[in-house]
Amino acid sequence: MIRVTKPRQAPAVLTTRGKKKRRADCASFTRFAADYRAGRRSFSFNSKIYGHNTIKQSLIRAQHDKCFLCESKITHIAYGDVEHFRPKAAYRQDDGDALHKPGYYWLAYEWGNLFLSCQLCNQQFKKNLFPLVDPSARATSHKDDLDLEQPLFIDPSIDDPELFISFRGEVPFARDGNPRGGATIRGLGLDRQKLNDKRFDHYDKLRLLYTLARRDPPLIPESIDAQNFLARAVEDSAEYAGMARAAIEANFKLV
Ligand SMILES: [Zn+2]
Repeated sequence: MIRVTKPRQAPAVLTTRGKKKRRADCASFTRFAADYRAGRRSFSFNSKIYGHNTIKQSLIRAQHDKCFLCESKITHIAYGDVEHFRPKAAYRQDDGDALHKPGYYWLAYEWGNLFLSCQLCNQQFKKNLFPLVDPSARATSHKDDLDLEQPLFIDPSIDDPELFISFRGEVPFARDGNPRGGATIRGLGLDRQKLNDKRFDHYDKLRLLYTLARRDPPLIPESIDAQNFLARAVEDSAEYAGMARAAIEANFKLV
């Protein structure tokens, strides 16, 4: 997970159709709050708005075609999902928690709440999970103050994930055992086996190139090529850049 910098200006579909739909949903909640909370009434979210192609393309560019959680490249193998950071329909504080309705319905069409995610991270791991440090501070309607919430999951458009999560080899860990890094890794499956395996393949190649890049005397041109390859591997656009940066910072020692 690395920082995501989205364009400041939201795509027009959000500021026009999205804004209108938000206003209608908020008015409906004000009128039927008890029904929404009891699950007798639910919102019908319009994926043609939040999943609009202009939003997807903007997120693909901002995130370098990578999942905002696991940093896997997406669109060469899948379409990718436009994912809500705060879940729109319902939420759970933790795995054992019952599903609470409604979710953050008023953020369904908010630019700040949207990211591009791979299907595994979105559908198998994140689902409706959204833990807070203090669950009693949760905003449960559009009238509540979101700023009072302290989410445990790292928001890569606000926080720098690399301050919270580092890697030992291919395996992510919470820096100094910080709770937000730990909750993000566990809750979102960032240390799932298949993802670790995929990162390990990459790590192994980088380690070999690192030895070649630092060879003294250098092999020409192989050592130069290796240096160039490593320089590209730590750019934001590179797959698993967070892991690559941590590996190089640690000189490939497993500390
Ligand atoms: Zn992912």
